[in-house]
Amino acid sequence: MSASNLSASGSATVYNYGSINIDHVYRVPHLVRPGETLSSTDYQIVLGGKGANQTIALARAGGRVAHWAQLGQADEWALATLKDAGADIDDVTLLEGSSGHTVIQVDDDGENAIVLFGGTNQSFSKERIRALIDGADSEGWLLLQNECNDIEDVIRQALGRGLKVAFNPAPMTPAIRELALSELSLLFVNRGEAAALVELPEESNANTLIQALQQALPNTDIVLTLGSEGAWRIDGERNEPLYQPARPVQAVDTTGAGDTFIGYYMAAVQAGCDASTCLERATAAAALAVQRAGAATGIPTIEEVETFLQ
Ligand code: ATP
Repeated sequence: MSASNLSASGSATVYNYGSINIDHVYRVPHLVRPGETLSSTDYQIVLGGKGANQTIALARAGGRVAHWAQLGQADEWALATLKDAGADIDDVTLLEGSSGHTVIQVDDDGENAIVLFGGTNQSFSKERIRALIDGADSEGWLLLQNECNDIEDVIRQALGRGLKVAFNPAPMTPAIRELALSELSLLFVNRGEAAALVELPEESNANTLIQALQQALPNTDIVLTLGSEGAWRIDGERNEPLYQPARPVQAVDTTGAGDTFIGYYMAAVQAGCDASTCLERATAAAALAVQRAGAATGIPTIEEVETFLQ
């Protein structure tokens, strides 16, 4: 399927109940020690958050995506990237108070340490959640990660309205694990999340993880990503799992690889592609992203993915 007929026109919207973070990235000679005051040699403010990254990827893939989020008024600038990518941001509300944000130290060895403050990502009211779900097209998809509040409630209400639910349980917590084990339409997990879900060591091989996932979630479509080892799609009908190797590329920054993969995969699902095409497109997009620095900035456009696939 080519870029032109990957277009989502006519298909139902993906609603992404997703975080928008402002990342404050400090370059330091070493990670700051207890009690130490350390001068930073470089400082950048960039858009982040799994939710925002996945929306940008979905929109750059040509998908129809509406982002549901809350942001501090002072950070309105951060919406430009979502809008320029083609996402619908009508349901991003600007509030008083602090946006979700991170303080990230990156040292000379590439090690990092991160402080995360949930801010407005964690302050959705029950009324607002109800209004968002009520206003959604019931033919659509709800996509969500674990960076906003009341995830369980949002999923329950969306399922009640007949939306299909795609869940990326990241970051994984014990409560979120239970939720990910409930019957959803589509689950995206990386190695660590899969291992936590089925309570196996992270070093477990792909076959062991796949078998355990099939047992734990017999009716859910699952996409398991394994970094440079590629990705698997395990369906809820017990067909043979599909494997897509990763593209052999020189990775310079894998931040946001998973988000790029998910956004492109969802756009392909929305456009009615079969599972192997979804895997192929998502893998190509993620391979382009890992060759570039930055998360949101590294997410390729559909034209770049098409060229790469030729
Ligand atoms: P992150 O948290 O870094 O955004 P993730 O852990 O959620 O990523 P991964 O499983 O690491 O997700 O990667 C997602 C997909 O990105 C992989 O299935 C693969 O297609 C692609 N990918 C990741 N790392 C590489 C790499 N080094 N080379 C090529 N492709 C890669």
